[in-house]
Amino acid sequence: MKISVVGTGYVGLVTGTCFAETGITVHCVDIDKEKINKLNNGIVPIYEPGLEKMIERNVKKERLFFTTDLKETLVDCDVVFSAVGTPPDEDGSADLQYVIAVAREVGKYMDHYMVIVTKSTVPIGTAKKVKAAIQEELDKRGVNIEFDVASNPEFLKEGDAIDDFMKPDRIVIGIETEKAENLMKKLYKPFLLNGHPILFMDVPSAELTKYAANSMLATRISFMNELANLCEIVGADVNLVRKGIGSDSRIGHKFLYAGVGYGGSCFPKDVKALIKTAKEYKFNLSILQSVEDVNDRQKSVMFDKIMKHFGGDIKGKIITLWGLSFKPNTDDMREAPALVLIEKLIGAGAKVKAYDPVAMEETHRKIGDIIEYSKDQFEALIDSSALILVTEWNEFRMINYKVVERLMKEKAIFDGRNIYEPKEVIEQGFAYYGIGRRM
Ligand code: NAD
Repeated sequence: MKISVVGTGYVGLVTGTCFAETGITVHCVDIDKEKINKLNNGIVPIYEPGLEKMIERNVKKERLFFTTDLKETLVDCDVVFSAVGTPPDEDGSADLQYVIAVAREVGKYMDHYMVIVTKSTVPIGTAKKVKAAIQEELDKRGVNIEFDVASNPEFLKEGDAIDDFMKPDRIVIGIETEKAENLMKKLYKPFLLNGHPILFMDVPSAELTKYAANSMLATRISFMNELANLCEIVGADVNLVRKGIGSDSRIGHKFLYAGVGYGGSCFPKDVKALIKTAKEYKFNLSILQSVEDVNDRQKSVMFDKIMKHFGGDIKGKIITLWGLSFKPNTDDMREAPALVLIEKLIGAGAKVKAYDPVAMEETHRKIGDIIEYSKDQFEALIDSSALILVTEWNEFRMINYKVVERLMKEKAIFDGRNIYEPKEVIEQGFAYYGIGRRM
């Protein structure tokens, strides 16, 4: 079997590499020449644990290739996966220009039956648009070639992407014909050997499933953040409440962590896009609107605590951020709460120093030198008045209070992920602020 994967971002690169791992030939395509040059020179443009080794292995075996030329990859191709970005438009809806551009490109050059699969997260009705764009190009050429479209949303998590892809909880495929279904079954068979289910459904249901999954997870986070704020008022501890409700098997423990708000490339844009889709159908998703409002407010909670601690004036103070990426094990800075915090701190006249194990280069690409990047977490603390834990990387979990105390000018710890024990921090003579914690 031979497939093309268009878009070599977090999803495309992992998808292509994992399929190559099963022994098939995979051509990964991107319009970004620099990315493809890097990949062809053995440099992986994103940080994803385990990916580099897997790419190296499959390139060596000559079943994983990188190119900017989609046309050449369509020769003998059975399935084209489109994994290009779907960033939010100004009004919150998903921008489909890249998805449609890929469809047109395929329509321009395909010369035999194939299945065109959308892996990107796309609103209901996109498969129809993809099909129409391909057909339009075929009509322009005056040729009649059979093809199918499918929707195969991706549920991988950055940081665990390979495991998620190789051992998926489920594979969801929206499909229109038996022929396409059989091809997709064959392609995914190696991933199903351990009993992971493949769920075939109609295309709109598959398209909606992805948004529903991310919206449900975002809802859990916003719910807990709102509860955390209530905990502070009533003197309860959100970590205990979390354990209390998570132990209920109907609820479970995942995605119940209060913090500085959800971020990343998916939750914010997918929640926005689903609200927008519903509006287009004159339907109001009121719960989801609140989920988004709560999250926007939550990104300011730590800043408000800092201002309160310093009596409303942080001018000239050095504030340290431990962690920048929106979650550990990724360098992804899209919609990272750290960016909102940095903007507010700098706006209030503070100097920001930061350390992140992998996301500093990406942060620098986004915001340049408005903050100081440190070589390790300790250098970032020199002369600092406050430490804010923004991303719960493992290396930040144990604080050496003696060292931290020696380096910092003032003793205040703002725990944006509730990973420290308030009592312990306070006993060491630091002021402690968490999210919804009981002191
Ligand atoms: P990304 O921005 O990291 O990568 C997209 C890639 O597509 C870029 O390299 C870009 O150059 C390339 N591209 C754009 N137009 C192209 C074209 N016409 N031809 C070839 N390449 C083109 O995006 P991502 O994070 O991998 O996300 C891709 C999609 O998957 C999005 O819809 C996203 O919502 C969804 N998704 C992402 C994740 C995640 O964790 N990142 C998880 C599940 C689903």
